[in-house]
Amino acid sequence: MINKKSRDEIKRMRHAGHIVALVHKKMKEVIEPGISTKELDDIAHKIIRAERAIPTFLGYNGFPGCICASINEQVVHGIPHEDVKVKEGDIISVDVGATYAGMVGDSAWTYPVGNVSDEVQRLLKTTEESLFAGIAQMKAGNVLDDISSAIEAVAVREKMGIVRQYGGHGVGHEMHEDPFLFNYRVGDKTLIKSGYAIAIEPMLNLGCDEVVVADDEWTVSTKDGKPSAHFEHTVLATDDGNIIMTQLME
Ligand code: MG
Ligand code: MG
Repeated sequence: MINKKSRDEIKRMRHAGHIVALVHKKMKEVIEPGISTKELDDIAHKIIRAERAIPTFLGYNGFPGCICASINEQVVHGIPHEDVKVKEGDIISVDVGATYAGMVGDSAWTYPVGNVSDEVQRLLKTTEESLFAGIAQMKAGNVLDDISSAIEAVAVREKMGIVRQYGGHGVGHEMHEDPFLFNYRVGDKTLIKSGYAIAIEPMLNLGCDEVVVADDEWTVSTKDGKPSAHFEHTVLATDDGNIIMTQLME
C-alpha cells in the first residue's frame, strides 16, 4: 500500500530532508584526496545528531555506517572504513538518510575527487540529468512508468548502463515503503497521487548494466569494473508538480 503523507508528516519529512541536505553540503566541502570514508561517516553522524535526528542507515539490516560510501566501480552500499581513502581522479557516491520526528529523508550524490576524466564527468552529468528528468514526471496524475521512462531515455541517449537490481522507493515512516520504482520502463501504470513521497535514484554505469555483490554482502560493484554514479532525491508529489524534500530549507 502506498501512503499519502499528511500535512504534519510532510512538515517533519521536509525537516529530515533538510538535515540530509546539510550533510551533502558538508560532503561537498570536505571530500578531497586523502580523506577516508570513515571520516566522512563521522562528519555525517555528527551533523545528524546535532540536528536531533537519527542516522537512518545505522543498524538498518545490520549496516554499520551512517552513510554508504561507494567509490568508482562501486555502485551502492559501500561500508565506511578508516583504511578506505579517496584519491585524485576518483568519484565517490555518498548516500545518506536521516530520521527526524519519525520521518525519513533519503538522498545520494556522486562527488568528483579533484579532477576527473571527461568520460567520468559525462557519467556524473548524465546521471544527475536523469534524476531531474525523473523528478519532472513526479506529479499527481502521472504514472510510475512516466518517471522510469524519463530516466531511461536520458541513459539510453548517452549509452550508459542502467543498474537493474536496485531502484527508487516510497519513503516516509520507513526508509523503504511501497512502491518500488524501476529506473527503466516496465509498464507500471500505478497512478501517482498528491501526497506520495518517492526516493527517485538512478544508478548509471559507464559500461554494462550488470552488478555484483562483494563478499561483505553489502558493497555492490559493476561487473565490468567501470565507474558508476548514483543521484537521489526524496520527492513529494503535489497537485501542481512536486517538492524536492532533500534540499536545504531557506
Ligand atoms: Mg539513499
Ligand atoms: Mg533510497
